[in-house]
Amino acid sequence: MPTTSKPETRTVIELISADQLAKATERAKAGNLFVQPTSFLRQYRVVNRDNGNQYYVDFFVRNGKRYGQCTCKAGMNNRQCKHLSVAAGYHVMRMAAKREAERIALMPQAA
Ligand SMILES: [Zn+2]
Repeated sequence: MPTTSKPETRTVIELISADQLAKATERAKAGNLFVQPTSFLRQYRVVNRDNGNQYYVDFFVRNGKRYGQCTCKAGMNNRQCKHLSVAAGYHVMRMAAKREAERIALMPQAA
């Protein structure tokens, strides 16, 4: 019977501040990264146009906090990678647009 319990390793990274997102967006542009939504909600494909590498980034909410995970080597090592950063920026904008659309749709008719 094990006497020590190793903390569970999870490839999750809490999403970052708007300021960090802005910097990440700059890095993404410099790194020639291209973000596309996939057919899964909250999943994005990030393509590095310099070398053709593709990674998948997923976002999820746990205990009220938002997390992301990436399939690249850095992401697997629980590090905040540039793919995650750029996909987070895209995701935040997309969700904001969706909320706004829903808000407008729920507005009572002004007439
Ligand atoms: Zn990554």
